[in-house]
Amino acid sequence: VENVSKVYQSGLRKLTVLDDVNLSVEAGDSIAIVGPSGSGKTTLLGLCAGLDSATSGSVQLSGHRLEGLSEDQRAAIRSKEIGFIFQNFQLLPTLTALENVMVPMELKQRKDAKEKAMELLHQVGLGDRTTHYPTQLSGGEQQRVSIARAFANEPKILFADEPTGNLDTETGELVESLIFDLNKALGTTLILVTHDTDLAAQTNRIIHIKGGKIQEEQHA
Ligand code: ATP
Repeated sequence: VENVSKVYQSGLRKLTVLDDVNLSVEAGDSIAIVGPSGSGKTTLLGLCAGLDSATSGSVQLSGHRLEGLSEDQRAAIRSKEIGFIFQNFQLLPTLTALENVMVPMELKQRKDAKEKAMELLHQVGLGDRTTHYPTQLSGGEQQRVSIARAFANEPKILFADEPTGNLDTETGELVESLIFDLNKALGTTLILVTHDTDLAAQTNRIIHIKGGKIQEEQHA
């Protein structure tokens, strides 16, 4: 991320949400982005992951320069390179848990998509919820489906926005170990946004952001 700013315009008012941010993350590293509510964490995560585009500056994701690309081009890069765990899950309401987990794999036309999706749902403790629709699942269960979906394509980079935010302690610990096992076993790069200090403490770098600017960085 180089000299990135993000400005939202509402009527005549301009809101600078990210102000000249620079950030570089090495492959295989794990970082947590922390800071007060409204400080720009989710916005920064979305820009890094190619879900949104910067007002100025440039973002490079796994060797791909993102500025100037269409949404379709960015989606193709995302499906190849990343998994994303959203703060509000973003499950597709008309699909079952199993079908939601299969969505990224279908983009890659994997033949073993169903078996792989089943296995992932078992891993997050939802082997008996595969045919449930999102409205038939609790918040924590929806979160776990979204985590299984994020792992579906064995991503090189896993982005997670408050991955333990809606979970009880036990499920939070399960999710934490899934995420860090992936980081260690496959060398998956991990970029987390969290208010959970225990989760942040498990990463190698903690980036503090306030008012759209990186304030300080702590290393493990
Ligand atoms: P939280 O910890 O509460 O999730 P955050 O640090 O992740 O907060 P962001 O979601 O990045 O914060 O939002 C930063 C600011 O940008 C907020 O003030 C928010 O209201 C504003 N904002 C976010 N998205 C938009 C948008 N699409 N249009 C206008 N303003 C936006």
